[in-house]
Amino acid sequence: MQINVTKPFLPPLAEYQTYLDGIWRREWLTNHGPLSSELELRLKEYLSLDYLLYVTNGTIALQLGIKALGLSGEIITTPFSYVATTSTIVWENCTPAMVDISPDSLNIDPEKIEQAITDKTSAIMATHVFGNPCEIDKIDAIAKKHGLKVIYDAAHAFGTKYRGKSAFQYGDLSATSFHATKLFHTIEGGAVICQTPELLKRVAEMRNFGHLSPTEFGLVGINGKNSEAHAAMGLCNLKYINEILAKRRELHRRYKERLVGLPVRFQSIEPDCEYNHAYFPVIFESEEMLLHVVATLNLNSINPRRYFYPSLSELDYVRQAERTPISNDISRRVLCLPLHFGLADEEKKKILNRNVAGQSTKRCSSLKWTISK
Ligand SMILES: *Cc1c(COP(=O)(O)O)cnc(C)c1O
Repeated sequence: MQINVTKPFLPPLAEYQTYLDGIWRREWLTNHGPLSSELELRLKEYLSLDYLLYVTNGTIALQLGIKALGLSGEIITTPFSYVATTSTIVWENCTPAMVDISPDSLNIDPEKIEQAITDKTSAIMATHVFGNPCEIDKIDAIAKKHGLKVIYDAAHAFGTKYRGKSAFQYGDLSATSFHATKLFHTIEGGAVICQTPELLKRVAEMRNFGHLSPTEFGLVGINGKNSEAHAAMGLCNLKYINEILAKRRELHRRYKERLVGLPVRFQSIEPDCEYNHAYFPVIFESEEMLLHVVATLNLNSINPRRYFYPSLSELDYVRQAERTPISNDISRRVLCLPLHFGLADEEKKKILNRNVAGQSTKRCSSLKWTISK
């Protein structure tokens, strides 16, 4: 049995089937059907948001955000994120301007933003890395002072609260992902969250080819819609979201307890937030040590992932590595350990297997066993 870095949460099949029955009855498969609308409503209720649009995926959400805010020229961004944070900027004909991260929070370092602003800068696009909110106040103050827009790549931030509100409520616009590997998912999917009805209307038009009516087009749009079958998965999963969040909090706590005393350090979480425990990154002292641990874990059928490696400033189409020594260094030494809803049960089975095979009779988790070897 393999233990991977993540495994999608699956609701009871019968619950999904009930939604499918409704889709078959209505014969309404996509184009803003009742399940998509219900999912938008439920998400707004659950997260206390005013303006949210359900879209195809997190990448399209970022692209819609860049387009809808009319960004051009340079966008200040973080090199320590998933590749989509950078590739969407380039895809939308803007230039990423990489600003280094804080070695503790792993988020963009606000102290370094101002020196990267030029007369071409139009926005700051920062990621709440692994669900840990950015230094939002500082970023917003800089943006105001220089007349810049702010987009948050909030793909990891479902369920994180900052100062009592969803992390999605900050910046001009947040983009999130509901991909199967994320904490809350709709198989594929994502959302754009904004703060004004005007911006919401613009994104909604762009999501639907620019249609104002069947025969009128207000602007250049794209197909950013999502389907009823995807929305149905979201409606099923949303029922379990509090359980999912609680389980991850518990797994996080146990990981920390067990790894205490090992030569590794952890991401420091913003104190004024309610964290969603989306990932469990471990920072090693050297890449050599990381590679050794990966090899040992792989031998034991445990598959962590090198999130995020490489540093996006090192991409061939960016080439700004000299600006981001901290991100370059940390990306070589950071590893995300498996963290998902079914993990505890799988772990138990694995320890049992190990005992049966006589490989180890240790009563600690196989992870601790392999990491501390
Ligand atoms: C997953 C992810 C995306 C892309 O989302 P998709 O739904 O897979 O397109 C963008 N940014 C970050 C930080 C992500 O983790």
